[in-house]
Amino acid sequence: MADLQVHQFPCLSDNYGLLIHDPATGDTASIDTPDADTISAALAEKGWTLTHILNTHHHGDHTGGNMALKDATGCRIIGPHGGGIPGIDQAIGEGDTVTFGSFTAKIFETPGHTLDHIIYWFEGEQTAFVGDTVFALGCGRVFEGTFEQMWSSLAKVRALPPETVIYCAHEYTLANAKFAITVDPDNDALKARIKKIEALREAGKPTVPTTLETELATNPFLRPDDSGLQKAVGLAGATPAEVFAEVRRRKDNF
Ligand SMILES: [Zn+2]
Repeated sequence: MADLQVHQFPCLSDNYGLLIHDPATGDTASIDTPDADTISAALAEKGWTLTHILNTHHHGDHTGGNMALKDATGCRIIGPHGGGIPGIDQAIGEGDTVTFGSFTAKIFETPGHTLDHIIYWFEGEQTAFVGDTVFALGCGRVFEGTFEQMWSSLAKVRALPPETVIYCAHEYTLANAKFAITVDPDNDALKARIKKIEALREAGKPTVPTTLETELATNPFLRPDDSGLQKAVGLAGATPAEVFAEVRRRKDNF
């Protein structure tokens, strides 16, 4: 089987567009649709024809291009239950699988940022498309769900194999880094990563994708059971859900 090809490109002010392509079948999917024109240009540049849209959640910067792209290509739109996905053909949820070309994605529901949020895990390709659930050194703001729900959702991501490549939907990493060091000040891996992030952004390069292994070592939202982080936020011995909620609250006010 050929590899899953992934093309990532900037979209809108700080989103990433993501096209995935199966060279064996020619199938091409857009993971979310931040901007139809930018995605169409990326398709033309690669010489790929859009066959699918795989949506993660209903926000406009993830679904805004759905109808224009569907009208232009007749592509099939797959996304979460909940009624918020424009032009949806197939609604999916926890435990479902999606076949894309020769590949299969397993679906996890990750409510918190929105109630309808789902992520796509291509187990055989060790790749996950996590939308606004996890960011490099961050996680999505909890708009619709509870902190407890968001923690349960992050725990699902945390349970994936550490080598999993994580594609998130925004370039927020530098701002996330400035916060992360305030709640995890003694983390040497985090300090080293921040230097790399600063160099990448100064060179105008993306900091994503990331890997789960890197996030487990440095992302404060995935480390609420770390004793150093617990101490730094004044919650030694608290439950991971409690520590997560405190870290998220601090970030909201940062
Ligand atoms: Zn969102």
